[in-house]
Amino acid sequence: MKVGFYGHVRQYHSLKAELDAVIGEVLESGEYVMGPTLARFERELAAYFGMKNAIGVNSGTDALWLAFLALGVGPGDEVITTANTFFATAEAIWITGAKAVFVEIEPATCNIDPNRIEAAITPRTKAIVPVHLYGQMADMRSVSGIAKRHGLFVVEDGAQAIGARGDGFAAGELSDAVCTSFIVQKNLGTFGDGGAVITNREDIVPRIRALRNHGSLKRSYHSMGYNSRLDDLHAGVLGVKLKKIDEWNDRRREIAAMYTDGLKETGLALPFGKPGYRHVYHLYVIETPRRDAMLEFLNDSGVDAKVHYPIPIHRQEGFPWGKPADLDVRLPLTEKSAASVISLPMFPEMTRDEVDHVVDTCRAWAAR
Ligand SMILES: *Cc1c(COP(=O)(O)O)cnc(C)c1O
Repeated sequence: MKVGFYGHVRQYHSLKAELDAVIGEVLESGEYVMGPTLARFERELAAYFGMKNAIGVNSGTDALWLAFLALGVGPGDEVITTANTFFATAEAIWITGAKAVFVEIEPATCNIDPNRIEAAITPRTKAIVPVHLYGQMADMRSVSGIAKRHGLFVVEDGAQAIGARGDGFAAGELSDAVCTSFIVQKNLGTFGDGGAVITNREDIVPRIRALRNHGSLKRSYHSMGYNSRLDDLHAGVLGVKLKKIDEWNDRRREIAAMYTDGLKETGLALPFGKPGYRHVYHLYVIETPRRDAMLEFLNDSGVDAKVHYPIPIHRQEGFPWGKPADLDVRLPLTEKSAASVISLPMFPEMTRDEVDHVVDTCRAWAAR
């Protein structure tokens, strides 16, 4: 039996009539860019987050970047984040001209360790970017407390965590903005790329709206900006899928519970769901010291497991203009995690048989 890592086409088939209808409506309307379908989705997305504003942009990376620009992050500034994340978190910091400062993770959740943030703060520090990795929120209460004491901005990288909650706090509630991604493989994904900034800060909303559209809030009037819009076709698709996100996240949590139940006696380190948090399992990540051998065993047994992320950002080498000094840092906990993580297949359309096959294969590995 083969178990894939994603269920994109199954998800399309499960909503085919509605998705085809909305795509047809947008095509018939003739309004494909900055049209009414985008405006409607932005209202629905803000309401879903319980926030005042959502601004659609063309990727999660741009959502972070434009939020940073709107907050005035730029050359000479430092931005604190983690190295155990998708590359884009740091990339978005770097493209503003700021320096990324990497702080260690809490090994249990792989999220930023709030107890180590203050030691990394300097007079140049401008913002903290907690990443809600794998679908579980970082400890936002601690992060926002530190930010308040030091007068720093907080931008949440919520690309993996739409629908997640903390114990008594929601995404966006304790920060200046939360950024999300709609690339196809995310929990809420379109048929391509997309992203959004969600914020209650009215002052940065017009700046982000202008930045995504050539600096223009009014036809023919421009300040400096970029082209980073969310297309109406994607907004239409996302509007249909947004109605399903809670149900899909519930199903991810159910699959995670089946994995945890099936694997609890294998000796593998299983994901730690913090008490009171709603983890939405963008990824179900286990850890084992024999990672590469286990990954090969899983792949050979038809289980398309993957690794997120094998090379932490400070260990990346591919910088044609020379490695930034930001990368010159020792992060033993982050490195240990990167060397031992495996992501098991996780998507809401997985069947019981597929989940069982993954569990059986992991158990067979552990029993060898
Ligand atoms: C996916 C992702 C991004 C970037 O989103 P894109 O839409 O691919 O640009 C940023 N941060 C994290 C943690 C992600 O998982």
